[in-house]
Amino acid sequence: MSPDFAQPPSERPQDADPARQDKQQPEAVEPADKPSRLRWKRKELPGGLWLKCESCAATIYRKELEERERVCPACDFHFTLPGRERVKSTLDANSFEERWADLAGMDRLRFNDATPYADKLKRTEAKTGQKEALICGIGAIHGRKVVLAVLDFSFLGGSMGEVVGEKISLAADLARGERLPLVIFTSSGGARMHEGMLSLLQMAKTSAALASLNEAGGYSICVLTNPTTGGVTASFASVCDITLAEPGALIGFAGPRVIASTIKQELPPGFQRAEFLLDKGQVDHIVRRSEMRSVLVRLIDFGAGAFARG
Ligand SMILES: [Zn+2]
Repeated sequence: MSPDFAQPPSERPQDADPARQDKQQPEAVEPADKPSRLRWKRKELPGGLWLKCESCAATIYRKELEERERVCPACDFHFTLPGRERVKSTLDANSFEERWADLAGMDRLRFNDATPYADKLKRTEAKTGQKEALICGIGAIHGRKVVLAVLDFSFLGGSMGEVVGEKISLAADLARGERLPLVIFTSSGGARMHEGMLSLLQMAKTSAALASLNEAGGYSICVLTNPTTGGVTASFASVCDITLAEPGALIGFAGPRVIASTIKQELPPGFQRAEFLLDKGQVDHIVRRSEMRSVLVRLIDFGAGAFARG
């Protein structure tokens, strides 16, 4: 769903939107509508040269943050990385061959909240230069070919609608057909509310596609980055062979404030953060951004026998 979705929480389905439910919003998202723009501006300091860390509230020079791959120099918090930057920082230079970039979102339900969904899609496409929130293709990490799928939070909060579901399924099928490892990076507010039930169906579709890959002896790795919530956490992000996370990433289904008010209990410190989930066994390993490529290549080599039994 989009971070600027303007429906009262009581009317929204169960899926989560971290931008509303947790004050720690990713830095990379730009609001599309006026109400969120006002909220957003409070975080930005004049001139846009400086910004506040959403984790430790330190004032950071934007250029320094960008040079450090968007990792806070004070507390090591890993800010949300835009999709194209993620592809660039993960793959060997010039190795990426994008697939299915022309698949564009459809407004089948003629959904209309503050802005018609069809208009929102057009505006987001113009802003991001992409037709949808998932970037997919084949590339190489230290020379090892992989199928890569990256959710981009700057496209309607990385939300999963029909096209994201279709592209994840196509990526899993491509990995199976080409006998390549599948590497997925997630950052998402969950299912895309504008597509209603059609977006929720993608949870079953993507999980089934990954199950088919698994049954064929395939190998998949998912890296959960800040934030990964809602129907994405509850489907393909949680069913890969290896589940990695970046430090401090918010990972959950509903947001912590919603859970606290529902169960009327105080949540434990670090609830829904990557470190908490590592402790509980949902995450296999936490990987710093600077070490991501070297860890991925070790895991890819570890899974080199995949498909042997398929
Ligand atoms: Zn910080």
